[in-house]
Amino acid sequence: MRSGFVSLIGRPNTGKSTLLNSILKEKVAIISNKPQTTRNLVQGIYNEDDTQIVFVDTPGIHKPIDKLGVALNAQAYYSINDVDVLLLVVDASVPYGKGDQFIINKLENVDKPVFLILNKIDKLTNDQILLKINEYKDLYEFSEIIPLSALKDDNIDRLISVLKKYLPDNVKYFMDDEKTTQELDFRLSEIVREKIFIHTNEEVPHSISCKLVGYEENSKIAKVYIDIIVDRDSLRKIIIGANGNMIKLIGREARIDMEGILGKKVYLELYCKTIKKWREKEKYIKDLGYLL
Ligand code: GDP
Ligand code: MG
Repeated sequence: MRSGFVSLIGRPNTGKSTLLNSILKEKVAIISNKPQTTRNLVQGIYNEDDTQIVFVDTPGIHKPIDKLGVALNAQAYYSINDVDVLLLVVDASVPYGKGDQFIINKLENVDKPVFLILNKIDKLTNDQILLKINEYKDLYEFSEIIPLSALKDDNIDRLISVLKKYLPDNVKYFMDDEKTTQELDFRLSEIVREKIFIHTNEEVPHSISCKLVGYEENSKIAKVYIDIIVDRDSLRKIIIGANGNMIKLIGREARIDMEGILGKKVYLELYCKTIKKWREKEKYIKDLGYLL
């Protein structure tokens, strides 16, 4: 089983969304249906019998575009280091520019494989494609350079087969079925996670996890119960805050977002607990919805 996390990075309009859609066209488990990429960290999951590729957004590498983006940047919410492979998508039909330079500079200290995706080759001749490859290969030590056309579905299969070689031998992170419930679970808990990172200056995203532990709804109201799991008491104190003020703030803002998504009133109950070294504990990992 090969599985891992992959992030598409690059300037706007280089074709990242088109590429993602093209990859996920057939074998899709989850696609976020809201295009606010800074908020939807898992953008889609590609499943095959022996492969699972989780595409995630890494806001940290883009220029901050709004307040939320800034907050996510500052707190390295989803860092480059959380992914196994980075795909730098460039528009091969336009000249190399400052925006590309900005991103390549950011890659300097990255020790992950970075693929260069030369997109939109349907607009280029073969000679022009070769020129582009030569131009880019001196700018950075790309692990692979793959010319393709996301729009015309040209060479996407090659990208997938090369990607597989770079993914670790691993577990499946998400189940193949349970599409909708898994998605809702995930989205609701991610909202809480996001509020935690916005309001605390916490720099250890890996040690916080949010898990939907209960959900009931009728036509008027949804009751949502979420556990916030941390690995040390000091962190728990920060999240709860003086007189519970922090967890109330997190809860209030999360509830408002959830009401927007669910389209009805939400009763939200948050419970923060410490589980030391929870990541190493099988029971909890299973409870958290990961497959072992
Ligand atoms: P993003 O901002 O990086 O997500 O870019 P989009 O996926 O939204 O694409 C930006 C524009 O480029 C859209 O008009 C796409 O149709 C177009 N586009 C994307 N991929 C290709 C491609 O392979 N060839 C051509 N000709 N156009 C493309
Ligand atoms: Mg896009």
